[in-house]
Order: sequence, then structure tokens, then C-alpha cells
Amino acid sequence: MNIEKVANLIIEKFPRVHFNKEPFYVLVSTVLSQRSKDENTEVAAKNLFEKFKNPAELANAKPEELHELIKPAGLYRQKAKRIIQIAKILQENYNGKVPDSFDELLKLPGVGRKTANIVLYVSFGIPSLAVDTHVHRISNRLGWVKTKNPEETEFKLMKLIPKNLWGPLNGSMVEFGKKICKPVKPDCKNCPIKKYCNWEGKNDSII
Ligand code: SF4
Repeated sequence: MNIEKVANLIIEKFPRVHFNKEPFYVLVSTVLSQRSKDENTEVAAKNLFEKFKNPAELANAKPEELHELIKPAGLYRQKAKRIIQIAKILQENYNGKVPDSFDELLKLPGVGRKTANIVLYVSFGIPSLAVDTHVHRISNRLGWVKTKNPEETEFKLMKLIPKNLWGPLNGSMVEFGKKICKPVKPDCKNCPIKKYCNWEGKNDSII
């Protein structure tokens, strides 16, 4: 199978547009998105940034001031604390700016490989492959990798996929994973890349 060709097909058919690429917005939104649906993350981010515009304002906030604003994204107590901690660290160590370095991003609380890679690609245009549950599941179903966790998938995919596709592939696989190649009962009948898929259950899957 030509993996590059199939990756391009997914990117073409399931484009993802990032309306706001401002680094602090992308970083905080990605923290908010952990275990949250996109639509709920968007409401929480909108509420939060209407009141607090930047790290300087958030560094001085109290967690309780954030609770109602970000409640739609869930885990709001934990996320409020993290967001304020991040804002404080950015103020103290990075002149209020989000660093464009993977290693520096990983030092921030609540920021893992996925979040760091999303910020690097979306905000700074640096080729980065963010692997979440969608990317992990779909890559395994397609037969591109045989891996047990997203981190393993990330390293394998980086060897299989050209660098220029790393960034766009994440957003497109998320869209594809929400609309067609869902975790349970994927819509294989309407899948535009079905003929390239190795998943043994694809012909039985119905909606
Ligand atoms: Fe996913 Fe089914 Fe398409 Fe395979 S055929 S990629 S399992 S939706």
C-alpha cells in the first residue's frame, strides 16, 4: 500500500481548519480539549478568552474565577489549576510567550507529546506529528502500524510518512475518526479509503 497516497487522500477529504493559531490560544485550547468533545472545548475556550486575553492576565487569576468559564470542557478544577500554572511559568520564564521548542513545551504542566506537537504545527508551522486516540486507532486499522499505544505509533509513523504531511494528518485523521472511522461501528460502507484498509472487520461493519 502506498501510505503517502492514502495519507494525502485523508488530508484532502477531511480537511481541518484552525481558525485561531495564536500560540497561547492553541496551547490552552489543547489543554482544555483533553477528554472533551470539540464543541465543548470551543465553548470553554471562547468563555475563557473573552475574560482573560493573555498569560499575564491568567497568571494573576484564581482557579475559582475560571471554573464556570471552562466547565463545559469537563475536569474544570484540574484544568483551571493547570492553565494558571502554565500562564505563571510563561510569565516567569518565557517573557509571557509560548516557546516554540518541543522540549520546553513538555516542561509545562499538563502538556504531553500530543499537545506539544499540536502547538508546534498549528502555531509555528513546524512539522510535528501529534498522535491521539484517533490517529493511533486508524493507523492500526489501516495496517500502517501494529502498535500498543500512541507514543509507539508516533515514532513508527514518523518513519513512514513524509514530514510535510505530519502536521495536517493529525487534524484530518481526527475529522475522519469522528465522522467515518469511529471507535465503535466505523462507517466502512461510506469510507473513501476502504480499499486501502486492512482491518479484518471492515466488511461486516454497518451503521
Ligand atoms: Fe476505518 Fe472502515 Fe475505513 Fe477501514 S474501511 S479505514 S475501518 S472506516
